[in-house]
Amino acid sequence: MRFFRNWYIILKITNIYRLEVASQVKTADIMGVRFHAVTLNEAVDYAMNRIHTKKKGYIVTPNPEIVYLTLDDPAFRSLVNGAALVLPDGIGIIYAAKILGQALFGRVTGIDFADLLMHRMAQEQMRLFLLGAKPGVAEMAAEQLQKKHPGLIIAGCRDGYFKDAQEAADAVNAAGGAEAVFVCLGAPKQEYFMAEWMDKLDATLLCGLGGSLDVFAGTVKRAPAIFSKLGLEWLYRLCKEPWRFRRMLKLPLFLLLAIKTRLLPSEKEETP
Ligand code: UDP
Repeated sequence: MRFFRNWYIILKITNIYRLEVASQVKTADIMGVRFHAVTLNEAVDYAMNRIHTKKKGYIVTPNPEIVYLTLDDPAFRSLVNGAALVLPDGIGIIYAAKILGQALFGRVTGIDFADLLMHRMAQEQMRLFLLGAKPGVAEMAAEQLQKKHPGLIIAGCRDGYFKDAQEAADAVNAAGGAEAVFVCLGAPKQEYFMAEWMDKLDATLLCGLGGSLDVFAGTVKRAPAIFSKLGLEWLYRLCKEPWRFRRMLKLPLFLLLAIKTRLLPSEKEETP
């Protein structure tokens, strides 16, 4: 019994140590974006660790669309790579990793990450600020989230349609501090906001989560589990929101580019 307990403690310590230092976590280079090869649990352990040690940082959850945006925009790419944690949101990233021969454990979607993080924050009565989406949506999300995660304190809400980012920062700071802020402004607005305002906000961890507040509020439905299992969440979204067609064309283009990068490795080396 003692043998197993000792091993458990050793494993726990090495795991915590590994996750304290994200730079030591293996990364997968997908067209210049360095994704962290972590499981959902490891990602949340790491996020909680940063909260406990009050180490400021931001987390990004790029999908193929976001990686695509970084291709012609080196400043945006370094901002994405400057995140404390870069999580692979979207089956397209996993396919690209396979094509490029890069190791990733699997998808860690922004929604799943946020959900488990809130579960863990609720156990310690931590404070969360919700920033983003159309007026009223964050408040609706707050109501649902407090029901789902009793113990979680919603420090405040603010919609994402501000004229000046200072207004949003003031709202977060006026709420009296929060362990985490969900920044749901869509890409690349949320990534720019997080990188620019991180040090000026009374909050430890900023998480860029796209349209998650719409899902938490119930104004947008998440794809049923079967779509997710089959890697067809994009198809469900396309059927529900056909106006996304143009944006979603980037997915096949992204995969073609991954194939090209694999076949012509010299071009890959040129990518910073
Ligand atoms: N949004 C915002 N401010 C803006 C533009 C967008 O708060 O100036 C919100 C928008 O209402 C939506 C989210 O950002 O809730 C972006 O959602 P989308 O589904 O486009 O992001 P994805 O999940 O695809 O990254």
